[in-house]
Amino acid sequence: MKISRVLAYRVELPLREGSYKWSGGKSVTVFDSTVVRIETDVGLVGHGEVCPLGPFYLPAYAEGVRTGLRELGPHLIGEDPRQLVKLNRHMDAALKGHLYVKSGVDIACWDILGQASGLPVCELLGGRYGDKVQLYRAISQESPDEMAAKVAGYRAEGYRRFQLKVGGDPDVDIERIRAVAAKLQTGDRLVADANTGWVQHEAIRVAKAVKDVDVYIEQPCLTYEECLAVRRQIPHPFVLDENIDDLGILLRAKADLAMDVVNLKISKLGGLTKTKQARDLCVSMGIAMTLEDSWGGDIATAAIAHLAQSTPAEFLFTTTDFNSYVTVSTAEGAPQRLHGHMGASTKPGLGITPKTDVFGPPVLSLP
Ligand SMILES: [Mg+2]
Repeated sequence: MKISRVLAYRVELPLREGSYKWSGGKSVTVFDSTVVRIETDVGLVGHGEVCPLGPFYLPAYAEGVRTGLRELGPHLIGEDPRQLVKLNRHMDAALKGHLYVKSGVDIACWDILGQASGLPVCELLGGRYGDKVQLYRAISQESPDEMAAKVAGYRAEGYRRFQLKVGGDPDVDIERIRAVAAKLQTGDRLVADANTGWVQHEAIRVAKAVKDVDVYIEQPCLTYEECLAVRRQIPHPFVLDENIDDLGILLRAKADLAMDVVNLKISKLGGLTKTKQARDLCVSMGIAMTLEDSWGGDIATAAIAHLAQSTPAEFLFTTTDFNSYVTVSTAEGAPQRLHGHMGASTKPGLGITPKTDVFGPPVLSLP
């Protein structure tokens, strides 16, 4: 089987709540997503999606996905999409770095491998654990009272895990954590995700000011070393996210006992193949994970669901249904949130049928 065509589409995904705000005053109102379509000489077609969280979250941006695909695309024609590790080595040889560009291609090829073998992607990624995975809800950065007021509505939708967007003014963040924590019930989990927004001494101050609160602290500072210094001085369970973008830093963080949970995002690591490698390593090392992506719609959410569903339940801290945050649906058969959980499709591949009428004309079509 050979890749015969590579296409890409630009899709706008407006947010249901109007905007999503996090540390440092950053926000997004309409996500700019890229859907990748890989066609083969046997008629099988696979889809993937890459959707950065704006241009200022990770070293990734929406137009960069498309520009990178224009560079990478010609190297994919004629390659076997089912030989994923070999294909990834080929992509890394053709285009140095720019892992997020390759993520959509890799996801689309897992979709093809699944269809070719008659198996859902989660079974190919290691096996299906249970019939559903537990979701968290991100609470956009607002005033403490506004954030606390959101909890009841999200709980009514079934969410029991909440990720607070902090990383703003440290004094207000202390109030945010306390206000939301006051709304929690037994069994709920609260994460305060600063998204690199605090400097080291302020991160330690915030954590010590809420030392009596049952809250996880996620990625307080910009660098790994700052986060490690904070981690060593505070009592809370600790999550690393932005800094963990390859196996080298993951192994170093394990050796340093730098985190209790790690957030692995598919496009941050460069696709399902590389995220599977990191995920399997985390399971072997006893590190629990949040498994997700930077953002996306139905196709990215389907890929997330397969990754999460193929992870042993005790190591899956939580995962995300990004498609429920946005107003546009791009595929039939994508996972749908039910009582705060979702499940990966039992159909071959990702188990989705793209709504091609939503995509518009391709922005890239090779050859
Ligand atoms: Mg995070």
